[in-house]
Amino acid sequence: MIKVVKFGGSSLANAEQFAKVGKIIHADKKRRYVVPSAPGKRNDKDTKVTDMLYACYGLAEADEDFRVALMKIKDRYDAIINGLNLKLSLEEEFKQISEDFKNKAGVDYAASRGEYLNGIIMADYLGYEFVDAAEVIFFQEDGALDAEKTNDVLGERLSKIERAVIPGFYGMGADGRIRTFSRGGSDVTGSIVAKAVHADCYENWTDVSGFLVADPRIIHDPAVIKTITYRELRELSYMGASVLHEDAVFPVRKAGIPINIRNTNAPEDEGTWIVESTCHQSKYTITGIAGKKGFVSVNIDKAMMNAEVGFGRKVLSAFEENGISFEHMPSGIDTMTVFVHQPEFEGKEQSVISSIHRLAEPDNIELEGDLALIAVVGRGMKSTRGTAGRIFSALAHANINVKMIDQGSSELNIIIGVANADFENAIRAVYNIFVETQL
Ligand code: ASP
Repeated sequence: MIKVVKFGGSSLANAEQFAKVGKIIHADKKRRYVVPSAPGKRNDKDTKVTDMLYACYGLAEADEDFRVALMKIKDRYDAIINGLNLKLSLEEEFKQISEDFKNKAGVDYAASRGEYLNGIIMADYLGYEFVDAAEVIFFQEDGALDAEKTNDVLGERLSKIERAVIPGFYGMGADGRIRTFSRGGSDVTGSIVAKAVHADCYENWTDVSGFLVADPRIIHDPAVIKTITYRELRELSYMGASVLHEDAVFPVRKAGIPINIRNTNAPEDEGTWIVESTCHQSKYTITGIAGKKGFVSVNIDKAMMNAEVGFGRKVLSAFEENGISFEHMPSGIDTMTVFVHQPEFEGKEQSVISSIHRLAEPDNIELEGDLALIAVVGRGMKSTRGTAGRIFSALAHANINVKMIDQGSSELNIIIGVANADFENAIRAVYNIFVETQL
């Protein structure tokens, strides 16, 4: 049995957090491959090391003095080393980094040093072997991951190492320069490592006890999702819920490896299991609620629209012509509504309207702005009657006007459109009817 464990920045922000991580790793012999992030914030006012590195490199690039900024970063690592009583010195590493900054080694190189240095400390602390991600993770010329080469080289290398630390977030570009994933990308590294070693499980340790049913900024102390499928996760993350980097799902999902989101500060909590498929039903019918504000609905009317071949295509071409992607598109008999992002749409609205008139010749177009979309997601809805009815009545009781409701044909989600101003109350109402009343 092999477990790959990834620890996020808040789990490694200082020596105390490192000690918790050490305990977690040593508590289970199966935790053989460790992927650390860079040290995160120690408190609300703190700065992540990655952000410090970006700022420091900004100075170097502008030919300004970056020494003080770099020393501040070194201090963060030294505090961890000293706090753990390690006999490790990063003196040489920092000399090299300073040199490379002077030579403008690139912004990705700069950012990657956060994980690189943390990996060195972690390996020393655990007594595991350090494997530089630059030697085992590869990007293609276009910047995308070279999945095949990475899987081969990484799998081969790790097959010979019993226990290793592989820093997250970066790898080697096709041009021989260091490249990073997008922000939060250590999640992706963890997933790639899990696939390469054929892990039984990818544990992703963070500072929450799993995926929450709803946003804790809106719902006080929301319930934790025990099990969620990859498809449900995709729906929820698309609608704004975030715990895991989107690209982290792909490698493990294809290999059938479950992800377990865990809390470094509460290791006894079971966390959330993200799985391909499950026969476990959620206690609450729904799995989660997420949503986003800031949409415009473009309502297009045309008598006998349903009989006109190609009408939808013509309407959508109008959006395409203007470089606008649409979010959602419910339709009626003689109407069709297209939801778009308000900030993206605002500057182009008149141009879009005239394109629709030209291409689709509708009877009438109406716009409504300041709308929010809420997705109520759950595999359980398929086998439960009355879910939409419960949502409607909960919203009616809360005096919320539902502008739109649409159930995807997968029966995995129901999308509700409300005014921006009703967004939070609508989420509370839906949460209460499904979760509070079940507790
Ligand atoms: N340290 C990087 C960031 O702050 C990557 C990560 O933490 O996953 O985005």
